[in-house]
Amino acid sequence: MPPNADDLSDALRQMPSVDECVRALAPEVQNSFNRGYLVSMVRAVQDQLRRALAAGTDPLPTGRQAILEQIARRTEHQIAASGTGWRAVVNATGVVIHTNLGRAMLAEAAIDAISLAARSAITLEYDLEKGGRGDRDRMVEDDLCALTGAQAATVVNNNAAAVLLALNTLAEGREVIVSRGELIEIGGSFRIPDVMRKSGARLREVGTTNRTHLRDYAEAIGPETALLLKVHPSNYRVIGFTASVAIADLCRLAAARGVEVMEDLGSGALVDLRRFGLHPEPVVRDRIEAGTGLVTFSGDKLLGGPQAGIIAGRRDLIEPIRNNPLKRALRCDKLSLAALSATLGIYLRAADLVQTLPVLRLLTRSPQELEIAAHRAREILAQRLGGEFEITVAASISEIGSGAMPGEGIETRVLKVRHPGHSAGAIAAMFRRANPAIIGRISEDAFTLDLRTIEDPSVLAASFPPI
Ligand SMILES: *Cc1c(COP(=O)(O)O)cnc(C)c1O
Repeated sequence: MPPNADDLSDALRQMPSVDECVRALAPEVQNSFNRGYLVSMVRAVQDQLRRALAAGTDPLPTGRQAILEQIARRTEHQIAASGTGWRAVVNATGVVIHTNLGRAMLAEAAIDAISLAARSAITLEYDLEKGGRGDRDRMVEDDLCALTGAQAATVVNNNAAAVLLALNTLAEGREVIVSRGELIEIGGSFRIPDVMRKSGARLREVGTTNRTHLRDYAEAIGPETALLLKVHPSNYRVIGFTASVAIADLCRLAAARGVEVMEDLGSGALVDLRRFGLHPEPVVRDRIEAGTGLVTFSGDKLLGGPQAGIIAGRRDLIEPIRNNPLKRALRCDKLSLAALSATLGIYLRAADLVQTLPVLRLLTRSPQELEIAAHRAREILAQRLGGEFEITVAASISEIGSGAMPGEGIETRVLKVRHPGHSAGAIAAMFRRANPAIIGRISEDAFTLDLRTIEDPSVLAASFPPI
């Protein structure tokens, strides 16, 4: 119950000064951090206590020393928690490309390349032969061309930036024709009409939500048209009475009418995923071969590399993109380029692609392998959580995530965790409080861990030390 005004002001008067509180912190904390930071952390804790007092939820302890102690210990706790950066968690969602959990996990070679680039001076923009300035994209461009059949390629911070930059370069002040079935939104903030507006291009919608025909594009092309844009509807699917125009037909129309074609592929697979028994995603090389002037795709979705946006296509279209001042603002840092280059190197060697690239390795784990992992995980959790928890192995479906293969999950094995006294939500919270935290999902009223994204079930033992 909230206290009355007199009691509250009495209680607030007991609050020690910031200076006293800072001096009450453990000496090693006082010696390790600068004073401005300690003052701001103490103030934040005092504010929390004042708010709790006003709400009547958390009375101050009695006695000045006890209050000082409480503030000091809380501040130390918050400093310890805040300085540690991101925490490694166990991804038990089964979603291999989980945007909230960092998307693609990198291959070892990419991780090594990042440490090298971080630790040492590198030839980022230095040409050893000429002894002078080189090009920052050179290292990845040749590999991208080899892997996609494109004449030229360039790289920016992410695929959203790639689309923005390409539209701005090729269509600022002019029209871009897009099917109404492809005016998509990805993860809240990337919406084709908004990106279009920011690029300075004018959106010209054609067709309908479920059906767009070649003649819709043909009728809309005029003197103002710069581009026909195709967008891969990554995260949803239109089924039933539908029609969309094949990229090859669009390219033929564009060539006849003197306009360009660009495609935002989203994930952009570099290899045909059917080879690994997965549902097909558009392959970049096929789109280039079909005549698409430019394609854009992400580095950290199915490609399995770092966050990056790749633009590949005809040299005469890539060149002005490279020279656009926006390119400088959207370019990649050396760590991403190093990781991307190492990841592309794995595709070029190809022999053990699936084993070397975590994204493909996780996507292609067999139900048999997952079944074994699930039983191993069940044993560990049953032992660590005790007999009150009911833990069962079940067949289920993993989503791939980040708009790859929407609606086309892959067969997996899950653990379902139930407890007679706790809701699924309470169990999920308990798993999130473990260290490392375990992030699963709730399904059919049970807390569910999908083994697809847990390669080594013994990590679960680390999260729940023996009781
Ligand atoms: C994911 C996606 C984007 C955004 O890519 P980011 O790399 O996350 O910026 C854009 N377009 C499509 C079709 C996508 O699937």
